Parts: sequence; C-alpha cells; structure tokens
Amino acid sequence: MNTQDTICALATPPGGAIAIVRVSGPKAISITDSIFSKSLDKAEGYTLHFGQIKDMDGKELDEVLVSVFRAPHSYTGEDSTEISCHGSSYIVKNLLESLIWTGARQAEPGEYTMRAFMNGKLDLSQAEAVADLIASSSQATHQMAMSQMRGKFSQELADLQGQLLQLTSLLELELDFNDQNVEFANRQQLFELMDKVEQHISQLSDSFQVGNAIKNGIPVAIIGAPNAGKSTLLNALVGEDRAIVSNIQGTTRDLIEDTTQIDGITFRFIDTAGIRSTQNKLERMGIERSIQAAEKAKIILLMTEYNNSFPEIQFRDDQIVLQVINKCDVSLPSTSYLFHRQPTGRLYHISAARGYGMDLLRQALVRESSLPSDLDTTHSVVTNVRHYNALRQALQALRRAKQAFADQTPTDLVAEDLRGCLHHLGEITGSEITSEDVLHNIFHNFCIGK
Ligand code: GDP
Repeated sequence: MNTQDTICALATPPGGAIAIVRVSGPKAISITDSIFSKSLDKAEGYTLHFGQIKDMDGKELDEVLVSVFRAPHSYTGEDSTEISCHGSSYIVKNLLESLIWTGARQAEPGEYTMRAFMNGKLDLSQAEAVADLIASSSQATHQMAMSQMRGKFSQELADLQGQLLQLTSLLELELDFNDQNVEFANRQQLFELMDKVEQHISQLSDSFQVGNAIKNGIPVAIIGAPNAGKSTLLNALVGEDRAIVSNIQGTTRDLIEDTTQIDGITFRFIDTAGIRSTQNKLERMGIERSIQAAEKAKIILLMTEYNNSFPEIQFRDDQIVLQVINKCDVSLPSTSYLFHRQPTGRLYHISAARGYGMDLLRQALVRESSLPSDLDTTHSVVTNVRHYNALRQALQALRRAKQAFADQTPTDLVAEDLRGCLHHLGEITGSEITSEDVLHNIFHNFCIGK
C-alpha cells in the first residue's frame, strides 16, 4: 500500500439521506478543490465550505458541504477532506469517479485507520479498537472499545514496558561491568518487580475469558430430545423465527446460532439437533455436531417435555446446566404456579410456545453468566485474540526470566528473556523496542559516575 497516494472512499453505509466521502493524502485538498466550485487552496483546517461539485464531464453533480482538515490535525494525520453530499448512489458513484479521475485512488479496507497508525495518531491496539467500536452492539462492548481506543490499555502496557525496561537496564548495566563483578541492583527488589509485572500481565491475560464472552456472546447450547421444543425456545429467546419449528422429529439437523441481549449481556444461543438414537446418517451427523456444540458451551439448557425424562448426557464440571421442562401449558392450570416461582436448584418450568416462565429463565441466564451487565472499566479487559496470544507469550518469557533469575543463571540469559517479554508486549501496540531504547534508558535514568 503506497501511503503517498491520495485515497478516497464512501464512509457512510449506502441508503442514507446524506453520504460522506472521505479523501485523505498529500493531494486531498487540491483534488477536492479541482471538482469543487470554491477555492479550498487557502482554506484552514476545521473549516466547512458550501458549494457545488462537478462530475467528470464538468457538469454540476450536487450541492455539498466540504470539511477541510490540515495535517497533522486529522484522523489519518494527513491533509483530508470530507464531502457531505446527498445519499444517492448515482451521486456517490460519480463523485468517487471524479475524485479518481483527478488523481485519487479508491481506499482499501481499513486504509484510513492504517494511515492513522503509520502517522502515529493511534497505536495498533487503538486502531483495532476502532473496528470494535464500530461493531459494538451492547453497552459493555461499547465501553470496552471506547476505553481501548482512548488508549487506556496502551497506557497500561506502556507502564509495564517501562518497568521491564528498568529491569533490563539494570541487568545490562551489570553486564557492562561484568569483569569488575559489581551488582547494581538489589536482587530482592528486582525479584519483587518481576513478580509485580507478572501479576499484572497475568491479570490482563486472564481478563480475555470475560472479554471474549462479552464481545462474542456467552455460548449457550440448547440440548434435548427431538420435539422437546428447542427451536421454539430459541425463537422465544431471540424474539424472531430463526429456527424451524415442526412436529416432525429430526427437523433441526444443522446447528442454528443466534445472538441476543438480555440485560445488556450478549448470549449466543445454539439450537441443536435432537439427541436420540437413529439410523439416519444425516441425522446422526447433526447429533454429532450437537454434542460438539455442547462441549464448547458455557451454559447448557437441557430440555425435556412435561412428563418426560431428561436425556442422559455427561457435561463438564465447569459447565452450567439449567434443566428446562417445556410444554407445561399442556397441564394447565396445575402447573401455572411453577412459572412464577423461583426454582429450587436449576430446574425451570416453561412453555416456550406461550412464553410462560421465560422471565425466570432469562434472569437465570444473566445470573449464571456471572458477567456484570455494566462493566467496571477501571482495569483493561482484553477482547482481542492477538493481544491475548501476545500477552501469553510475554508471560511465558517473563516466567522463564524469573525462574532463571531465581536459579542464578547468568544475567545475560535473564536479560534475553526480559527482552523477549518486552518484544511481545510491543507487538500489541506495534511499538518497536530496540536495544537503543535500553541504552537510552541506562543513561537517562542512572548516573554511571555515582
Ligand atoms: P425441537 O425438535 O426440540 O426443536 O422442537 P420444536 O421447537 O420444533 O417443537 C416441536 C413441537 O412442539 C412443535 O409442534 C411445537 O409447536 C411444539 N411446542 C414447542 N413448545 C411448546 C410448548 O411450550 N407447548 C406446546 N403445547 N407445544 C410446544
């Protein structure tokens, strides 16, 4: 990707009343100027200009508002314009063609944010948070993305890197004076510092379990015999007809997944094929997939019909199984009191078709998810698998360093693992920590003559 190019793209989804076309790069202002009725040559940053734009044949295309941004005070850090035109697909297509005709090129996906990163406006994790913010669909995902985009996570990483750099510097200083057999650092203090950093990285890495569940939804598998009402329950939970409801056994042969929010928490419901013994090859495959889906779920809704028994399936100890007895409406009124009574244990009486008892079941899902619907963002929550992997690698390197240090392994080996840890943390934000930084830190923080 050539960052010297001037790029253009539609920034708003098609179909709205107003469309915004963004232009960014060294020639953004002159290219916009060449198709606009007013001169933008001397326009200052953060100014708005009303006028007409022309198409490739020089014919008036639309009345627009052009916002001007001067480098470095723009999203990308480059000269940029934003053209707000009317949302017709014809206007947008012709406007883009005009811009390309006058020297811009169509931007590639994510290219604006990539330029913002290249120009130091955002680090990598902040750039990734922009995508998360756009995709956020709940209060919790929005809060996490906002906090990451504002640089809270980056700041936490920078603090950790600072502490590691201090450790590495002290050890490398010792190495430089190796022949004089000097010890600059108090061993106990170094060990405590490593311990502190390890705890912090480990806390961040552990937060991924929650972060991932919040971002992608808590997986809930609906398991039961054919015709227990699994598809009806899925439809009742997500509030639309996602799954096919039929009284022909074995209808749901494939997994059907859908997400919905309950009290601000995202759940990913998986409707599975009914579990029973069958000779039908296709149905057997569906059942196999159901069992696999159940293995990945955090919560299982184990269903049966009123007066039937539950299928006997083994679940993992860390899975939460809520037993659901469906079709309780068939024995109304004798069962009606069950819909409103807090269940003893994890047994719930419902009628998925009529919606009875569903509130208690929803409340149970929220409770068992053990996720707060309003997230405490005093600590960063890791939601990105790339960050999680880098944190795990950083943790492994740090643990090696700690062990080597405890074993009194030569200092250069300990320092190497610490540099490894720094490298993995640097991968998250895209910052490069070179040995020059380490040197700089030595002379910056310590007086050798002292
Ligand atoms: P699945 O095979 O477990 O997915 O079951 P379905 O959701 O397809 O339902 C099987 C049949 O039971 C359909 O005819 C549904 O209309 C019916 N059914 C589902 N839930 C209820 C309920 O709460 N009460 C009654 N009376 N019938 C239900």
